[in-house]
Amino acid sequence: MPERIPVVEKILSANDRLADENRACIDAAGVFSINIMASPGAGKTSLIEQTVRAFSSQYRIGMINGDILTSLDADRAAAAGAVAVQINTGGNCHLDAVMLQSALDQIGLESLDLLIVENVGNLICPAEFRLGTHKNVIVASIPEGDDKPHKYPSMYRGADVLVLNKIDLLPYVTFRMDFFRQGVAVLNPGVTQFDLSCRTGEGLQAWYDWLASNLSDRKVIFQT
Ligand code: MG
Ligand code: ZN
Repeated sequence: MPERIPVVEKILSANDRLADENRACIDAAGVFSINIMASPGAGKTSLIEQTVRAFSSQYRIGMINGDILTSLDADRAAAAGAVAVQINTGGNCHLDAVMLQSALDQIGLESLDLLIVENVGNLICPAEFRLGTHKNVIVASIPEGDDKPHKYPSMYRGADVLVLNKIDLLPYVTFRMDFFRQGVAVLNPGVTQFDLSCRTGEGLQAWYDWLASNLSDRKVIFQT
C-alpha cells in the first residue's frame, strides 16, 4: 500500500499539537478568537471590516490575515481599527497552526480582547488544519451559489457558525434557499446561522450580538 496516507496523518497530528499550544496561549491572554473561512470573494474581509468598526471602541481587536501575496485585506482591517498582522503564505492555499503561531508571537495577544483570523480563500483544505482558535466561522454568499454545502461537505461539517452574506442580491440571483439549507442541515444541523449583507448592514446586528456574548463569556471565565 502507498505510504501517503500515514504521512498525511502525521502532518495533521503535528498540526493538532501546535493548535493546542496556540489555544493555550490565546486562553492565557484572555482572548476570544475566531477563524473565518470562505471561498474567495464571499466577503470575509468586508465582514471583518464591519465587525472591527462596530467593536473597536469597546474591545481591542487583532486581525491575522493569510493571503497568498498581498496585504490588501490586512490593510483594510487596520484602517478600520484593528491591529493587523499579515501572513504571506507563499502560495500555500490554507493557514496552518505553525503559521498562526508565528503571527501570534508578533501580534501581542496580551493587549487584545478579540482575535480574528482571516484564512486563505479556499473551501477545501483550511477545514483540515486546526489553528487553535475557539470558533470556526464559514462565510457563504448568495452569488457563489446554493450548491456549496453539497460540494464542500468537510468545510460545512466543521463550522460553528455559518454566515450567509450578500442577501441583498437575492432578488437578482437564482439561489434556492431550501436547497442550500437542506445541504447544511444534513452536514451540520446545530450550526449557528446568520443571514446578512455587509453592504446594506441588514442582519449584522445578530452576528454582533453573538460575538458580544462570546466576548462577555470570556470575561466571566477569566475573572473566576
Ligand atoms: Mg479577504
Ligand atoms: Zn491548502
